[in-house]
Amino acid sequence: MEYETIVGLEVHAELNTKTKIYCNCKNAFGLEVNTQICPICTGMPGTLPTLNEKVVEYAVKMGHATNCSINNVCKQDRKNYFYPDLPKAYQISQADIPLCEHGYVDIMLNGEEKRIGITRIHIEEDAGKMLHNDAFQGSLVDFNRCGVPLIEIVSEPDMRSSAEAKAYLDTLKSILQYIDISDCKMEQGSIRCDVNVSVRPKGSTEFGKRVEMKNVNSFSGAMRAIDYESNRQIEALERGEEINQETRRWDDAKGQNFLLRTKEDAQDYRYFPEPDLGTIYVPSEKVEELKSQIPELPNAKIKRYVKELGLSQTDAELIAENLPRCRLFDECVKLGGCSAKNVSNWVLADVSKYMNETGKDIAETNLTAEKLVKIISLIESGKISNNSGKIIFEEIVNGGDDIDKIIEDKGLAQISDDSAIEKIVNDVLAVNQKSVDDYRGGKTNALGFLVGQCMKASKGQANPAKCKELVLKYLEQ
Ligand code: ADP
Ligand code: MG
Ligand code: ZN
Repeated sequence: MEYETIVGLEVHAELNTKTKIYCNCKNAFGLEVNTQICPICTGMPGTLPTLNEKVVEYAVKMGHATNCSINNVCKQDRKNYFYPDLPKAYQISQADIPLCEHGYVDIMLNGEEKRIGITRIHIEEDAGKMLHNDAFQGSLVDFNRCGVPLIEIVSEPDMRSSAEAKAYLDTLKSILQYIDISDCKMEQGSIRCDVNVSVRPKGSTEFGKRVEMKNVNSFSGAMRAIDYESNRQIEALERGEEINQETRRWDDAKGQNFLLRTKEDAQDYRYFPEPDLGTIYVPSEKVEELKSQIPELPNAKIKRYVKELGLSQTDAELIAENLPRCRLFDECVKLGGCSAKNVSNWVLADVSKYMNETGKDIAETNLTAEKLVKIISLIESGKISNNSGKIIFEEIVNGGDDIDKIIEDKGLAQISDDSAIEKIVNDVLAVNQKSVDDYRGGKTNALGFLVGQCMKASKGQANPAKCKELVLKYLEQ
């Protein structure tokens, strides 16, 4: 029998607000344990939370960016459970009325677009972090992360493979980056996801029982977890077993998952309205104002690059997926003066190579859109060679500033002037009669040699295309 895999994701993204969600503690990663804490985020009796307005704004922005409707009147609820990283023994979240719901994002996979439903986006607080140290018998707990603001983005069970899930995660990540509400640093856990998987016989319209996996720490890990779980369920069904709704723990190192608990229901958490916080009210004008702050999003960009600028789908996706790269590209195209295709080549080759190798953002160097456009248009007009362009680029990202001066100092100006090149060509032909005869006798590769001699005679500064043109003209006479 053939099976179909069904995937739904719950993505938690840490918001990059300056302070935590209910207190004034700093929202920062990697500081000394238990230094970014106060009586509020450690749940001391007698303290009261105050909602950070920015958290609501950021979540509304994400709602807009994912085509959700915004519930401008909503509330917060307590989700009760005990765990040592949760000093209050409840997490403030949103239960029945989330801030945003009924949205969607379009993902691209193998050149095809697919719409994935967003069930809801709600705000909530993060818990602390357990530290397991070999030098210490037992566990330690760091409360710095308590009260770090999160949004949880719940998808519909609309994905049908691990590849679709990966494309969905990549799409969410680039949206979060574009609207600048999360650091999206996977290695710091700023995006985490719970992965829900079920399988069903192909053609069936009913869903099978879902298994939820925790401890998925990377997008590639999510793919491995989905493939593993889907196989595990298919094998169980083939043996005649039933699938239980349960929560399993993904172990990426082992490439396996393990039963954590049979599935708890929402009622187990005794959700009730948070009595220490009032109703959230976002005036419609504010909702609209936040909408107007949403920039052009990756999908729209990719479509524009392909349709209006003539880039290939792959190149368009590669540029749009990286925000600094994309900003530079957009700025160059806006300035104009050279072809978008050439800008794309430079951004995807030299600029990306530099960023990958140094780990630096181009904005940290002297390279600006103006400078890159200048380099490219100098090449396009034949004033410098492509190779000289690369040399200038290197100089600029390593602290150089004045392109004209670099060209002069390094003697990079290309000779494109007809009469100057004609002189070089004539000199070369005069002392290479044998190659001229060879060519005319049918040995056409003598052409390359002669052009090479011209380049050599000009110390590499002659425009090679012009040289070739003039040499050919003479040979064909
Ligand atoms: P819970 O808090 O119990 O995990 P949520 O409603 O927050 O429940 O999330 C449920 C997630 O499970 C959603 O992402 C949804 O798309 C997914 N899901 C629901 N049914 C299935 C199914 N049959 N197969 C795979 N995923 C599913
Ligand atoms: Mg869940
Ligand atoms: Zn605090």
